[in-house]
Amino acid sequence: MKIVILGAGPAGLGAAWRLNELGTADWLLLEAAPHAGGLASSFTDEAGFTWDIGGHINFSHYAYFDAFLDGVIPADGWLRHQRQSYVWIRGRFVPYPFQNNIGLLAPEETLRCLLGLLRLKGRPAAPAAHFDEWIEAGFGEGIAELFLRPYNLKIWAHPLDQLSASWVGERVATVDFERVLANVVHRREDAGWGPNSVFRYPLRGGTGALWRACAGALPPERIHFNAAATHVDLDRRIVLTSDGRAHGFDCLISTIPLPVLLRIARRRELAGAVEGRLLHTATHAVGIGLQGAPNPAIAGKNWLYFPEPNCPFYRVTVLSNYSPHNVPRDGEYWSLLCETAESPYRPAAADPAAAAVEGLRNAGLLQDSDSIVARWHYRAPYGYPVPSLERDAALGEVLPALERAGVYSRGRFGAWKYEVSNQDHTFMQGVEAVSHLLLGEPEVTLPCPGAVNGSRS
Ligand SMILES: Cc1cc2nc3c(=O)[nH]c(=O)nc-3n(C[C@H](O)[C@H](O)[C@H](O)COP(=O)(O)OP(=O)(O)OC[C@H]3O[C@@H](n4cnc5c(N)ncnc54)[C@H](O)[C@@H]3O)c2cc1C
Repeated sequence: MKIVILGAGPAGLGAAWRLNELGTADWLLLEAAPHAGGLASSFTDEAGFTWDIGGHINFSHYAYFDAFLDGVIPADGWLRHQRQSYVWIRGRFVPYPFQNNIGLLAPEETLRCLLGLLRLKGRPAAPAAHFDEWIEAGFGEGIAELFLRPYNLKIWAHPLDQLSASWVGERVATVDFERVLANVVHRREDAGWGPNSVFRYPLRGGTGALWRACAGALPPERIHFNAAATHVDLDRRIVLTSDGRAHGFDCLISTIPLPVLLRIARRRELAGAVEGRLLHTATHAVGIGLQGAPNPAIAGKNWLYFPEPNCPFYRVTVLSNYSPHNVPRDGEYWSLLCETAESPYRPAAADPAAAAVEGLRNAGLLQDSDSIVARWHYRAPYGYPVPSLERDAALGEVLPALERAGVYSRGRFGAWKYEVSNQDHTFMQGVEAVSHLLLGEPEVTLPCPGAVNGSRS
């Protein structure tokens, strides 16, 4: 079986890794960019600052992925961090997850949040029709109004009643009222929740170092860079690429955005099935490199959430705290990486870097006296796959139809499932697609209603 993979991000590299591990000879990976990594790439600017496309951390749900991380970068090439994540709200830092730490707000705000939670008691549990309803039903009016609504509107950049509530799972901490009450009474910080409370980060080269090392460990002749797929002929099973070549396949593992795949495959009926039903944001990553002593308020902090309207970004990562090699010289420089979402509902600023600097000043992270020595801006046209109400129905029509034509669409925008779209998930989607094709093993990461591969109903 000849397998062609589109895209050398974590999902495509996961597929290639597994094919190589199984000793399969007949495969080829085609990547549009001149490098591997996709959204998990990193770039070092002329001033010597290293930037990720938004803050990336490595944590894992899989023993296979852990072993991969350990094998590709040696132990002394990783830094391990305890999460130090906060919400900046009403002029103070509240530890993440916010809902467990409402006791650190001003007394009237704590009371408002507690009363909201109290009023939920005894209400019959009913399935939420959409994400906004899920927020109010799970957290009450206080937490919803103060944090969850404004924050989620910023990150998703779509009305929250267009999002489903089905994806949430481990992505959002639900509320244990008695625990919250005890935290308030004892004035206790409670920041340990979640799968990413400890994470790792490459010592050198940013997040992208992992994926460059992964690609470097694969046979170079099987990876074609600067080779964008321009046409996929599903009847003849041929891919045409921007470097003027044609590649036949028995099976195609595509990790490029699903609407792009459907367009270049000229499948109008399938493209019509996702049109307006699969929503996404673009992500603006703005890096601000600074010389001098860092703002003491961010000492030891990893990333910060910003729900308020005085800044465009929803999250800022203190990237100089991830690795000393992310700045030109440790101790003399520091760096902040801001993420802003763009959508038809939330257009980008004319100058995203200037808007980020202004927001950092409004939020008190930058002072007028701080010396900015680098500004870096990257727009990822596909940043977040929005878990829209019609997403699963659309995927349930399109993915099985593609699989019948020998195409497995996987990865963050290939499969469009935000809840399984981190690096570990997407890498494993590639691995599992290959294990399924060659060994008949079920795919477990990607729950796909109606998938023809028999791994689920
Ligand atoms: C702001 C932000 C923050 C994130 N934070 C984290 C985090 O903290 N931890 C974490 O684990 N994950 C994080 N992620 C998710 C992580 O980036 C993704 O899991 C991962 O990059 C998705 O991999 P992928 O291979 O599915 O897709 P991508 O990385 O998008 O790769 C797709 C590849 O396809 C290529 N391509 C596109 N079109 C074509 C074509 N026509 N022909 C050939 N190639 C093509 C692209 O160039 C790209 O290399 C974050 C993502 C974003 C946007």
